[in-house]
Amino acid sequence: MACLKYREICKRYDNNTLAVTRFNLEVKDHEFLVLVGPSGCGKSTMLRMTAGLEEISEGELYIGDRMVNDIPAKERDMAMVFQNYALYPQMNVYDNMAFGLTLRKIPKQEITKRVNEVAEILDIVHLLKRKPKTLSGGQRQRVALGRAIVREPQVFLMDEPLSNLDAKLRVQMRMEISKLQKQLGTTTIYVTHDQIEAMTMGDRIVVMRNGIIQQVASPLELYRAPANLFVASFIGSPAMNFFDGELNEQNGTLLFQHEIIKVHIPDYQAKIIKIKDCINRKVILGVRPENIQIYTQPQEDTIAAGEIDLIENLGSEMYLYISGVDKKPVIARVDQDIKLGRGEKVYIAISPEFFHLFSQSTEENLLK
Ligand code: ADP
Repeated sequence: MACLKYREICKRYDNNTLAVTRFNLEVKDHEFLVLVGPSGCGKSTMLRMTAGLEEISEGELYIGDRMVNDIPAKERDMAMVFQNYALYPQMNVYDNMAFGLTLRKIPKQEITKRVNEVAEILDIVHLLKRKPKTLSGGQRQRVALGRAIVREPQVFLMDEPLSNLDAKLRVQMRMEISKLQKQLGTTTIYVTHDQIEAMTMGDRIVVMRNGIIQQVASPLELYRAPANLFVASFIGSPAMNFFDGELNEQNGTLLFQHEIIKVHIPDYQAKIIKIKDCINRKVILGVRPENIQIYTQPQEDTIAAGEIDLIENLGSEMYLYISGVDKKPVIARVDQDIKLGRGEKVYIAISPEFFHLFSQSTEENLLK
C-alpha cells in the first residue's frame, strides 16, 4: 500500500512540447484517483512518469517518503494496465499472469497459488489454458487486470483500460474494477477521457486541461461546484447550458442580464466577494439541464419563452432542445410523463440556487 506525492512536476518532451505543468497532488493510501480530461491534456504522460516509463523533467515524485525520480520502473512496485491489454500472444492465460512473478523468482508453488486465487476472483479459471487470440476483448482485459493483481503491487496504474470494450461491457467492467479496488485496497491511478467513467469510479477526480490541473475534488463536488468554465462544461452529460451576459447592480441587488434572460442573483450568492469585482463586467450564467423547469403556461418565475426544436427520448427521461432563448438551443431534462411535442411553445424557469456564474475573462466560478 502506498501514498504518492507529486511536487511541481513538469514534463517537456524533446520536441519542446510542454505536456504537464506544475502538477501538485497527494494521492492517499487506498485511494482510487481518476485523471480525466480531453485527449492530449497530459494524462498518459503523468501516468507514464509515475510508472517510471518517462523521465520527469522537473519536480519530485514520492512514493511514501521516498523520492523515486531516478528509480527505474521495475523497482517502483507498480503494475500497469493498458488499453490494448499488452498480453503476450504466444503464452496462454496462466503464463501471461505468471510471467512477471517468474521473472521476480517467486517460488513456483506461490505463483500457482496466486494465479489461481486471482483467476477465481476474476472468473477466468476456465480460460487459464487458452491463448489471448481465442479470448474476447472483455476476457483479455480481465487477464490483463489479473496479471497486474497477482503482482500485489503498491500501486495500480490504469491507462484507459476499458476504451476498447463495447458500451455494455464497459459498464460491467467499470463496476468490477471499482469493487475489486475496494476489496484489495490498492492505491490506484486511473486515466480516462470519459467523464462518466471518472464520475462513477473515482474517490477523487483530477480534471486536466493542456497539462494543467483544473480541479481536484470528489465527483459530487466537481458536479456541484466546478472551479471554472472548463470543468463545468466537461463534467455532466448533456453539458451545462451557458448564457453570455453582464452583471449589473440595480437598487442594491445584483442582476444578470442576457439579451433575453434577466435574473436576480440572490443576496446569499451576491455576498461572495469575488462577484463584486465583476459588476459591469461580462459573465456567463451556467445552468444544468435538470435544473431548468419547463411549463406550458407563463409562470411568476418565468425567465424566457422558447420553442421545442427537438426531443430526445431516453425512456426514463427526455431532453428538450429549446430554441428562441439563446443563439444555441437550451437543453432541459424533463420527466418522461410530460406531454410535449416538437414546435410547442414552452416557458422556462430556473431556481437561483442552481445558478453557476463564471467570469468571461478568467473563466473562474464566481460563486465558489
Ligand atoms: P493524453 O493522455 O491526455 O491524451 P498525452 O499525455 O498522451 O495526453 O500527451 C500530452 C501532450 O504531450 C500532447 O500534446 C502530446 O502530443 C504530447 N506528447 C505525448 N507523448 C509525446 C512524445 N513522446 N513526444 C513528444 N510529444 C509527446
